[in-house]
Amino acid sequence: MNIGPTYLDQFAGKILVRCPDCFGRAELTKRLDRRGNIAGYRFVCPSCCHARQWPKKGANWFPGPAGGPFLPGFELNIWLQTPCCGSTLWAYNLAHVTFLENYVAATLRERRNHQWGWSRNSSLESRLPRWMQVAKNRLSVLKGLTQLRAMLDDRQTTEGLVKSKRRT
Ligand SMILES: [Zn+2]
Repeated sequence: MNIGPTYLDQFAGKILVRCPDCFGRAELTKRLDRRGNIAGYRFVCPSCCHARQWPKKGANWFPGPAGGPFLPGFELNIWLQTPCCGSTLWAYNLAHVTFLENYVAATLRERRNHQWGWSRNSSLESRLPRWMQVAKNRLSVLKGLTQLRAMLDDRQTTEGLVKSKRRT
């Protein structure tokens, strides 16, 4: 597992986002060129068929996904987000949720075992917000991650939101 400065990149291939039109679950996916280099991003909503593409027509640059829960440049909200410890816990997708679960669950164990410090996780440490690293928040963060995991299978929530939007 790559735990380095670019650790978010490994989850950025497919980011679950909220469709700005119908509020349903949609996807922001990385586009690659023939050589496998990143060529941009594409947004598609399976519920209302709304689609967007970066770079935009005539533009020669495209934004990159930042940390959530809002993605500037794409102007999209991340789907997997929940209030936690006075802040917002978020993840790009299931793989990201699993990664954070493993990380948080292992934090105390590693603190005990690695008396030589933080060499293995130092890059990741510096990129996770402090409130996620604090030992007293560990159970709340794990609970929040369980909620994010549940949102992945919650089709009714997605459809409910679509319906309530159409009713108004
Ligand atoms: Zn939509």
